[in-house]
Amino acid sequence: MARLKIRTEKDPILRKISRPVEEINTRILTLLDDMAETMRRAEGVGLAAVQVGVLRRVVVIETEPGQLIELINPVIVASSGMQRTREGCLSLPGKCGITERPMQVTVEATGRDGKRFRISGTGLLAKAFCHEIDHLDGILYPDVAKKMLTPAEIKNGSEDEDAS
Ligand code: ZN
Repeated sequence: MARLKIRTEKDPILRKISRPVEEINTRILTLLDDMAETMRRAEGVGLAAVQVGVLRRVVVIETEPGQLIELINPVIVASSGMQRTREGCLSLPGKCGITERPMQVTVEATGRDGKRFRISGTGLLAKAFCHEIDHLDGILYPDVAKKMLTPAEIKNGSEDEDAS
Protein backbone atom coordinates (compact mmCIF):
# COMPACT_ATOMS: atom_id res chain seq x y z
CA MET A 1 0.00 0.00 0.00
CA ALA A 2 1.10 3.53 -0.65
CA ARG A 3 0.32 6.79 1.01
CA LEU A 4 -1.08 9.26 -1.51
CA LYS A 5 -0.88 13.04 -1.48
CA ILE A 6 -4.07 14.68 -0.23
CA ARG A 7 -5.21 17.59 -2.40
CA THR A 8 -6.09 20.72 -0.47
CA GLU A 9 -8.38 23.70 -0.71
CA LYS A 10 -6.91 25.62 -3.61
CA ASP A 11 -6.66 22.59 -5.90
CA PRO A 12 -9.41 22.99 -8.55
CA ILE A 13 -9.82 19.20 -8.85
CA LEU A 14 -11.82 19.27 -5.60
CA ARG A 15 -14.61 21.09 -7.46
CA LYS A 16 -14.91 18.56 -10.28
CA ILE A 17 -17.55 15.84 -10.66
CA SER A 18 -16.19 12.31 -10.28
CA ARG A 19 -17.11 9.69 -12.88
CA PRO A 20 -18.70 6.33 -12.06
CA VAL A 21 -16.50 3.25 -11.92
CA GLU A 22 -17.40 1.05 -14.89
CA GLU A 23 -15.20 -1.92 -14.12
CA ILE A 24 -13.60 -3.08 -10.88
CA ASN A 25 -10.06 -3.83 -11.99
CA THR A 26 -6.71 -3.99 -10.19
CA ARG A 27 -6.34 -0.22 -10.51
CA ILE A 28 -9.53 0.32 -8.52
CA LEU A 29 -8.56 -2.28 -5.91
CA THR A 30 -5.13 -0.68 -5.48
CA LEU A 31 -6.81 2.72 -5.23
CA LEU A 32 -9.06 1.42 -2.43
CA ASP A 33 -6.03 0.04 -0.55
CA ASP A 34 -4.00 3.20 -0.98
CA MET A 35 -6.92 5.41 0.04
CA ALA A 36 -7.42 3.40 3.26
CA GLU A 37 -3.72 3.75 4.07
CA THR A 38 -3.76 7.48 3.29
CA MET A 39 -6.90 8.08 5.41
CA ARG A 40 -5.46 6.21 8.41
CA ARG A 41 -2.07 7.93 8.28
CA ALA A 42 -3.83 11.30 8.09
CA GLU A 43 -6.04 10.27 11.04
CA GLY A 44 -9.19 10.97 9.05
CA VAL A 45 -12.49 9.09 9.20
CA GLY A 46 -13.20 9.22 5.48
CA LEU A 47 -11.63 9.95 2.13
CA ALA A 48 -12.98 10.35 -1.41
CA ALA A 49 -10.86 9.47 -4.46
CA VAL A 50 -10.99 13.07 -5.72
CA GLN A 51 -9.06 14.09 -2.60
CA VAL A 52 -6.10 12.07 -3.88
CA GLY A 53 -6.55 13.38 -7.42
CA VAL A 54 -8.60 10.54 -8.92
CA LEU A 55 -11.96 11.58 -10.40
CA ARG A 56 -13.77 8.31 -9.73
CA ARG A 57 -16.77 7.65 -7.49
CA VAL A 58 -14.83 5.78 -4.82
CA VAL A 59 -14.95 6.41 -1.04
CA VAL A 60 -13.40 4.86 2.06
CA ILE A 61 -14.74 5.47 5.57
CA GLU A 62 -13.54 4.24 8.95
CA THR A 63 -15.37 5.82 11.85
CA GLU A 64 -14.65 2.82 14.09
CA PRO A 65 -11.04 1.57 14.09
CA GLY A 66 -10.76 -1.62 12.05
CA GLN A 67 -14.24 -1.25 10.51
CA LEU A 68 -13.27 -0.14 7.03
CA ILE A 69 -16.15 0.66 4.66
CA GLU A 70 -15.37 0.74 0.93
CA LEU A 71 -17.96 2.33 -1.36
CA ILE A 72 -17.86 2.28 -5.16
CA ASN A 73 -20.50 4.36 -6.97
CA PRO A 74 -22.34 5.15 -3.71
CA VAL A 75 -25.74 6.81 -3.60
CA ILE A 76 -27.82 7.89 -0.62
CA VAL A 77 -31.13 6.02 -0.81
CA ALA A 78 -32.68 7.11 2.52
CA SER A 79 -32.05 9.61 5.27
CA SER A 80 -33.85 10.81 8.38
CA GLY A 81 -33.42 12.94 11.47
CA MET A 82 -30.94 15.77 11.98
CA GLN A 83 -27.65 16.30 13.77
CA ARG A 84 -25.93 19.63 14.25
CA THR A 85 -22.23 18.99 14.81
CA ARG A 86 -18.71 20.09 14.03
CA GLU A 87 -17.34 19.00 10.68
CA GLY A 88 -13.87 19.11 9.19
CA CYS A 89 -12.10 17.85 6.08
CA LEU A 90 -8.61 16.51 5.36
CA SER A 91 -8.56 18.77 2.29
CA LEU A 92 -9.26 21.88 4.41
CA PRO A 93 -6.68 21.60 7.18
CA GLY A 94 -7.11 23.83 10.22
CA LYS A 95 -10.73 24.63 9.42
CA CYS A 96 -13.92 23.57 11.13
CA GLY A 97 -17.59 24.37 10.69
CA ILE A 98 -21.00 23.55 12.09
CA THR A 99 -23.19 21.53 9.76
CA GLU A 100 -26.64 20.03 9.89
CA ARG A 101 -26.71 16.52 8.51
CA PRO A 102 -29.24 13.69 8.71
CA MET A 103 -28.89 11.52 11.82
CA GLN A 104 -29.53 8.29 9.90
CA VAL A 105 -28.39 7.61 6.35
CA THR A 106 -28.66 4.52 4.15
CA VAL A 107 -26.28 4.17 1.23
CA GLU A 108 -26.34 1.78 -1.71
CA ALA A 109 -22.94 1.04 -3.25
CA THR A 110 -20.84 -1.58 -4.99
CA GLY A 111 -18.21 -3.43 -2.99
CA ARG A 112 -14.81 -4.64 -4.19
CA ASP A 113 -16.46 -7.97 -5.03
CA GLY A 114 -18.62 -6.16 -7.59
CA LYS A 115 -21.85 -6.77 -5.68
CA ARG A 116 -24.31 -4.03 -4.90
CA PHE A 117 -25.11 -3.71 -1.16
CA ARG A 118 -26.83 -1.39 1.30
CA ILE A 119 -25.37 -0.03 4.51
CA SER A 120 -26.96 2.20 7.14
CA GLY A 121 -25.24 4.45 9.64
CA THR A 122 -26.14 6.89 12.40
CA GLY A 123 -24.33 9.86 13.91
CA LEU A 124 -20.72 10.22 12.77
CA LEU A 125 -21.06 7.48 10.16
CA ALA A 126 -24.17 9.13 8.67
CA LYS A 127 -22.29 12.44 8.53
CA ALA A 128 -19.31 10.75 6.84
CA PHE A 129 -21.58 9.20 4.18
CA CYS A 130 -22.97 12.65 3.33
CA HIS A 131 -19.59 14.40 3.44
CA GLU A 132 -17.79 11.87 1.21
CA ILE A 133 -20.59 11.53 -1.33
CA ASP A 134 -20.70 15.35 -1.56
CA HIS A 135 -16.99 15.23 -2.49
CA LEU A 136 -17.88 13.10 -5.53
CA ASP A 137 -20.00 15.99 -6.80
CA GLY A 138 -17.40 18.68 -6.08
CA ILE A 139 -19.16 19.89 -2.92
CA LEU A 140 -17.11 20.83 0.15
CA TYR A 141 -18.67 21.08 3.61
CA PRO A 142 -18.28 24.91 3.88
CA ASP A 143 -20.81 25.05 1.00
CA VAL A 144 -23.45 23.55 3.28
CA ALA A 145 -22.18 24.65 6.71
CA LYS A 146 -24.44 26.74 8.94
CA LYS A 147 -21.34 28.61 10.12
CA MET A 148 -17.56 28.35 9.97
CA LEU A 149 -15.72 28.56 13.29
CA THR A 150 -13.00 31.05 14.14
CA PRO A 151 -9.63 29.69 15.30
CA ALA A 152 -10.55 30.59 18.90
CA GLU A 153 -13.87 28.77 18.63
CA ILE A 154 -12.12 25.71 17.20
CA LYS A 155 -9.67 25.71 20.11
CA ASN A 156 -12.33 26.13 22.76
CA GLY A 157 -14.71 23.54 21.39
CA SER A 158 -15.60 20.60 23.57
CA GLU A 159 -16.39 18.20 20.76
CA ASP A 160 -13.69 16.61 18.67
CA GLU A 161 -13.34 17.50 15.07
CA ASP A 162 -13.65 14.57 12.70
CA ALA A 163 -11.75 15.16 9.53
CA SER A 164 -12.89 13.49 6.35
ZN1 ZN B 1 -13.61 15.97 3.07
